[in-house]
Amino acid sequence: MILVTGGAGYVGSHTVLALLDKGMDVVVLDNLSTGHRDLVGNATLVVGDLTDKSFVESVFEKFPIEGVFHFAAKSIVPESMENPDTYYRNNIIGTINLLSTMKNHDVDKLVFSSTAAIYGEPDQIPITEESPKKPQNVYGHTKLFIEEILKQYFRAYALKSVSLRYFNAAGADPEGRAGEDHNPETHLLPIAFNVALGKRKEFTIFGNDYPTTDGTCIRDFIHVSDLAEAHLLAFEKLESGELSCHSFNLGSEKGYSVNQIVQTVKDITGRDFPVTYGERRAGDPAILIASSQQAHEKLQWRPKYSNLESIVSTAWMWHKKRFK
Ligand code: UDP
Repeated sequence: MILVTGGAGYVGSHTVLALLDKGMDVVVLDNLSTGHRDLVGNATLVVGDLTDKSFVESVFEKFPIEGVFHFAAKSIVPESMENPDTYYRNNIIGTINLLSTMKNHDVDKLVFSSTAAIYGEPDQIPITEESPKKPQNVYGHTKLFIEEILKQYFRAYALKSVSLRYFNAAGADPEGRAGEDHNPETHLLPIAFNVALGKRKEFTIFGNDYPTTDGTCIRDFIHVSDLAEAHLLAFEKLESGELSCHSFNLGSEKGYSVNQIVQTVKDITGRDFPVTYGERRAGDPAILIASSQQAHEKLQWRPKYSNLESIVSTAWMWHKKRFK
């Protein structure tokens, strides 16, 4: 049985679906602070918090857990800057409770949800796994910290792990079973859809004076179902012994400007809407594009859904149905 922490959240729920599709037994541990009960499919859901060590122990006592996919974390960048205390306690202490419980129960395989935010403003594009790590926000710092902690748990206790550093996760399950549902919503595509649906008056692009082709930020969007697949591949490599303590960038290796994305949203939804330019958002690097060569080579990972059209159209299908 696989334990998925944060399995009711965005990337977590798509990974739960991928595991269930493969016929695996899945137990989801989620405090439902941002996740949704209806997104865990037929997995068993236990509601509780990783910061509660005795609760985590009770989950490992109850279920025959063989491996862990760890998504549970607070992940809103501006919130992390306002409240580092909550972020460090939740993300770091929660993870240490999880790792310590895994160690007590001889569970030695973990796939960890990391982020491109650990790099901060890159010196070079594309970003490789070896690029300097200078997180510009507390959220990114918590994830980098955890990657370091994982190295020590491997060295000292042989707890094996793969950390997956996502670039911009987007899109929705092509079968419409899951998708993005944040409250409050801060991400580009769902906000643009809300404007397309007339739920917001206009779309504000944060900054058009960046050193890029059209002045707006450039991002590497990766389909959430491709991310889910990478987690399964990483787990297989831990099981086979091919990997033991590793980190991979997960991106499409293609950059699109915010302007281009907004135009694609207009094309795919068939709705025109007002767009304005606002101030830059604090902590946004100008360009983030991944090199995912290592994931291609060592995980044999091949993104299937990550062209911009299928990202935007799967996300739009989900959004229309969920928020009509
Ligand atoms: N963005 C924007 N307007 C919005 C939301 C996002 O211009 O209402 C921009 C944001 O500044 C960034 C890009 O879209 O350059 C992606 O932002 P998002 O919050 O979706 O993901 P992040 O890059 O923060 O993970």
